[in-house]
Amino acid sequence: RQAEYARLLELPAVTRDGQDVKLMLNCGLLIDLPHLKTTGADGVGLYRTEIPFMVRPSYPDVATQFENYSKVLEEAGGLPVNFRTLDVGGDKTLPYFPELGEENPALGWRAIRIGLDRPSMLRKQLRAMLMAGAGRDVRIMFPMVATVAEFIQARRILDLEVKRLKDGGHPGPADLKVGVMMEVPALLFQLDALLPLVDFMSVGSNDMLQYLFASDRGNPMMNNRYDLLSPALLRVLKMLVEKCGEAGVTLSLCGEMASKPLDAMALLGVGMRHLSMSAPAFFEVKSMLRSLHAGDLAAYMDQLYHLPVRSLRPYLRAYAADHGV
Ligand code: PEP
Ligand code: MG
Repeated sequence: RQAEYARLLELPAVTRDGQDVKLMLNCGLLIDLPHLKTTGADGVGLYRTEIPFMVRPSYPDVATQFENYSKVLEEAGGLPVNFRTLDVGGDKTLPYFPELGEENPALGWRAIRIGLDRPSMLRKQLRAMLMAGAGRDVRIMFPMVATVAEFIQARRILDLEVKRLKDGGHPGPADLKVGVMMEVPALLFQLDALLPLVDFMSVGSNDMLQYLFASDRGNPMMNNRYDLLSPALLRVLKMLVEKCGEAGVTLSLCGEMASKPLDAMALLGVGMRHLSMSAPAFFEVKSMLRSLHAGDLAAYMDQLYHLPVRSLRPYLRAYAADHGV
């Protein structure tokens, strides 16, 4: 196994028909970052900034955040890092944050909603990111955006911080790219207005599944009812590939889905070329894609999207078995 991994590390992430695929890592703590080297990943597709917040006894100030983001960029050594602003609320709570007693936390005050209602918190986080990224390329994305207006508001707050730094004589990032998480289905119907405003988009398939099917992501009673490989979710992804492609917006997927080889195969079949996953999944996914003919799979899947079934998983499993994927 070790020898196989060592061999894979040297080989490019390319399908049998020559499609290049970017494989990135999901990270949260600094201890995740050495995996960039051990896997040979193309960067950090999702840096969950709430994770270091969750393991602390109190809310980190700008200096503490700055130090954390600086170390992340340092460790990444020039590879792109998608910093996601604080995504708390719902299933992720902070020990020093008030217990809100919301009836539906997943539908409640969380992620960018908190950031927009408490802009000083968001501003401080953005300030720390921009300062850590002085002279470097910085990529920032906002979680749980439901309306273009929310994105515009968040972007404005970011622009304010950029200006503040500049006015204060601080060196800014060499380049700043701004992205959005695609997790709330309402956003699918605002792509015309949204796509011209963003540099990149990352699908959070964990939340997208939850909100598309109105099905709690943490409720075991619902575990097997709705599937990521459902025609509905795969058609959403295919549509995003097309729309983002037309708009020149880089599309990636950073939910747990990309960490499972069969699901990742489906992602390549719908046309995704940027996958972000947890480190342990890396080599299996890479090995899968190297044995895959993406064009052939896409043609196969085109016959499946309209089937009136719960999941296309059996068809994809059969394809994988038939084609030695
Ligand atoms: C997701 O929703 O798929 C995602 C990547 O974000 P998180 O799992 O952190 O909510
Ligand atoms: Mg999410």
